[in-house]
Amino acid sequence: PAVVNPAAVRRWLDEFTRLIEAHAAELTELDAAIGDADHGTNLQRGTTAVREALAGLDSETGVGPLLKTTAMTLISKVGGASGPLYGTLFLRMSTAAGDSAALDGAGFATMFRAGVEGVAARGKAVLGDKTMYDALAPACDALDAALAAGSDLSAALDSAAAAAAQGRDFVTPLVARKGRASYLGQRSADHQDPGATSAVLLIQAAATALGS
Ligand code: ADP
Ligand code: MG
Ligand code: MG
Repeated sequence: PAVVNPAAVRRWLDEFTRLIEAHAAELTELDAAIGDADHGTNLQRGTTAVREALAGLDSETGVGPLLKTTAMTLISKVGGASGPLYGTLFLRMSTAAGDSAALDGAGFATMFRAGVEGVAARGKAVLGDKTMYDALAPACDALDAALAAGSDLSAALDSAAAAAAQGRDFVTPLVARKGRASYLGQRSADHQDPGATSAVLLIQAAATALGS
């Protein structure tokens, strides 16, 4: 059974940082169309700081504390709407992980759902508002469904990543009801949401780093 231990969590955040770097320009371009053109730079600043912060923690640091440092770093470095939201995601996951040395697939799914529920609570977002939640929530459901059907965590995270991408694309034609994009009203329709796009990268990073 796959084990999400501290080394795996570090691999996940490393891969997320790498993907954010690779997609920063694209994320900022998406935000230029329906926001203020800073989503890529905001997240890149945050994930770069996370990489440094985690490198400074000793190798004995557990899953919960790694996720907590990630949360605090994102909250202080990302800013905007997405900083507190990604911060909340990681903070709730950190609390859910507690002092567990490692999590199995079901433990990871429970922890991830706690984080995603935190995002919804903090952002007051519901499905179809056209936010990061529209990628995160379907990923949670797909993860649970795949694990319940007997998939291992690796395959379940692949399903979760596919569901996240579907959720991101599903809301592209819609009018945004939260965040800066909502100020545009009808003009926000037919644009891909930057936060939903970065949320897909977070799940893809999990599928890459936590698989096997
Ligand atoms: P800002 O809009 O403050 O510049 P970012 O550009 O970093 O912040 O992030 C924008 C993204 O944040 C949006 O694309 C959307 O996915 C997400 N977002 C904004 N408001 C909310 C909210 N209330 N709930 C969930 N996600 C939100
Ligand atoms: Mg922005
Ligand atoms: Mg901004």
